[in-house]
Amino acid sequence: MFEIKVSAEFEAAHRVAGYPGKCDRLHGHSWVVEASVIGSKLDNLGMLVDFKLVKGRLRELLETLDHRMLNELPAFENINPTAENIAQYVYNEMKKAEFFNDNAKLKYIQVWESPKSSVIYTED
Ligand SMILES: [Zn+2]
Repeated sequence: MFEIKVSAEFEAAHRVAGYPGKCDRLHGHSWVVEASVIGSKLDNLGMLVDFKLVKGRLRELLETLDHRMLNELPAFENINPTAENIAQYVYNEMKKAEFFNDNAKLKYIQVWESPKSSVIYTED
């Protein structure tokens, strides 16, 4: 089994509405997002899936969140844009990518809202 990981970053503001503390106030993070892809078979080049494709799709997705007030985006209309909900959103969008198949599968999305705090979302 192989597992490849790529990561990318975006900067965005959010607030955790209803949080009993400072996080209820508008503030920003430099978010880091990692995508993990697993599979057991390699193609004839010896790759599970081209890093470039995974990174490209991840960057494209994060571009839609970059320098935004996350609470105002349709994806977070009725839910707080917490690291958990961002991870689930990115996972669900990412898994639509055409390079995933019966062999190469999205395993998880990990989102760091600070260097010491992260969340992993997976369907398993
Ligand atoms: Zn925050």
